[in-house]
Amino acid sequence: MAKIAFIGLGNMGGPMAANLVKAGHAVSGYDLVPALREEAAKAGVAVVSGAASAVEGADVIVTMLPAGKHVVSVWRDVAPVAHKGALIIDSSTIDVDSARAAHEIARQVGLLSVDAPVSGGTGGAKAATLTFMCGGTDAAFAAARPVLEKMGKKIVHCGDGGAGQAAKICNNMILGATMIATAEAFVLAEKLGLSHQALFDVASTSSGQSWSLTSYCPVPGPVATSPANNDYRPGFAAALMLKDLLLSQQAAAAAGAATPMGAAAAQIYALFNASGRAGDDFSGVINFLRGAARTG
Ligand code: NAD
Repeated sequence: MAKIAFIGLGNMGGPMAANLVKAGHAVSGYDLVPALREEAAKAGVAVVSGAASAVEGADVIVTMLPAGKHVVSVWRDVAPVAHKGALIIDSSTIDVDSARAAHEIARQVGLLSVDAPVSGGTGGAKAATLTFMCGGTDAAFAAARPVLEKMGKKIVHCGDGGAGQAAKICNNMILGATMIATAEAFVLAEKLGLSHQALFDVASTSSGQSWSLTSYCPVPGPVATSPANNDYRPGFAAALMLKDLLLSQQAAAAAGAATPMGAAAAQIYALFNASGRAGDDFSGVINFLRGAARTG
């Protein structure tokens, strides 16, 4: 079994590191927050006093951090300490430029590197059912796959360095826009006197069908597991949806791609979050589109 260093033991990283321990790997870990280090230690992670100490002797290094600046900074600290030929994986959701900069840091010191952002949320992190979207060389992906399989159930090689992040933000731009479009249709149906169930029954088997409708329906009732049945909690927070949409817009501006629907979705989630609902599941945007002020 491999010796793995895990940096960033938060909502996602904590359970992911715990799954690597369960799979029999020797995992050393570090987070800036003492309480998270204690929790990881209870799950069997050998907690150390800094990121650089965690990677000493490690075959594989995994980072799960908030944003691109954290990833680049941690990779700069740990890459020179890691042994040549080790594999470094970043599973955070970050901008494509930072992901490419991180790959370059790894390349310069002879490390294999993969950007491997995830979908599946904290539930998927706990259950080891995440989807990993990977960018990197064939050799780096081949080395990463057996490790990622202990934390997820679908591992996709999307292309060279940065391709995993590109796939993640393109997917989530579709998700943000389709959720808003689906929610708008339910609000219009309400005004027209059409029941939620009737719209669902028609659209879910017609050309209006999408994951936002059939797996994550923004009104309570038609899909028992959607957060709408639990007052839009818990789920994929609107704050994280806005983060991903802003990353998509940053990438679109840099690449010269026209993404007017993505831009509109980002603006709508910015307004929704500013109304105090950033912690709600992103499907709660339907309440904002109704114009209803929620106090709960
Ligand atoms: P989180 O804030 O709970 O965890 C990030 C952790 O990184 C924090 O505990 C923080 O203390 C730690 N950290 C920051 N800088 C550090 C440093 N220099 N050294 C060590 N630790 C450091 O966030 P999360 O929910 O676990 O998300 C992590 C990443 O995964 C984000 O990029 C997020 O966008 C992405 N993501 C999250 C979800 C989700 O549902 N939470 C889903 C998919 C993707």
